[in-house]
Amino acid sequence: MYNLFMHSEHTPAFLTLTAQGLLEERVQQAYQHLENCDVCPLECGVNRLKGELGLCKTDEFPRVSSYFPHHGEEDPISGNLGSGTIFFTRCNLRCVYCQNADISQVSFGREVTSEELAKIMLNLQAAGCHNINFVSPSHIVPQILAGVHLAAQSGLKIPLVYNTGGYDSPAMLSLLDGVVDIYMPDMKYGEESVAWKYSQVKNYPEVNQQAVVEMQRQVGDLKLDEQGIAYRGLLVRHLVLPNGLAGSETILKFLAEKVSKQVYLNIMDQYHPAYKTGDYPELNRRIRPEEYQVVIAIARRLGLTRLAV
Ligand code: SF4
Repeated sequence: MYNLFMHSEHTPAFLTLTAQGLLEERVQQAYQHLENCDVCPLECGVNRLKGELGLCKTDEFPRVSSYFPHHGEEDPISGNLGSGTIFFTRCNLRCVYCQNADISQVSFGREVTSEELAKIMLNLQAAGCHNINFVSPSHIVPQILAGVHLAAQSGLKIPLVYNTGGYDSPAMLSLLDGVVDIYMPDMKYGEESVAWKYSQVKNYPEVNQQAVVEMQRQVGDLKLDEQGIAYRGLLVRHLVLPNGLAGSETILKFLAEKVSKQVYLNIMDQYHPAYKTGDYPELNRRIRPEEYQVVIAIARRLGLTRLAV
């Protein structure tokens, strides 16, 4: 049994919820969303518990393509021992430039039960990882909650990172309130028509901005411990696309005005042509250094100073 009096600001949120006996209820509520699936904002309405597949092509059981201590995330996430990263296959976005298409768009990976998922988390903790980092989680929130519930009962005690493309449903985010310690969403697009063209999702900016506001409400600005490792908060990622297609200024303004000037922000320059970009000449090149520098300058002008650059 967990002792509530031993909990500190650094205690992962799900331990408090587990001690209060509330995590199991969350799992049950989340699984109900699989029957007429609205786990993500695409709202396919299929019964995943009966094996029906929606756009994410994932039934009741998630697939894991790999898991390991990841040293390539932002410093506060990877630290010196690595982030316990679990890469799930499939995704609720269909980005034509996907940098991980073999994982996200093809059913590569091993199907796992909740028990196996819990074991993976415990193995990563035993390997010394600073946190458990769920990559591409938006279509499998119920299954993640079930895995966390089991792992918590077997001694999981490191923070949980929700590493998302940023197209998340309000209902799932409310079930994750008090479970996730660190939200790490992408903010991919400032314009709806661009999101539709390159990722085939409707209302991305609206859904994404609403999600980021909710994440900030739940966990606040990113907080680091004495070693510089994150234990709670929001870390936003923005991948700069060629030809200004990401709508960077719109996104940065939104962050500065509606989220927080203290937001921890990774403006990423590693875009490279991949997957289907041969069909999209405007996306078929790397970004130029000056395109990146313009975005950094906008961030600084808006007062966003916690940049992971
Ligand atoms: S989680 Fe998958 S099946 Fe459910 S609404 Fe989203 S894309 Fe469709």
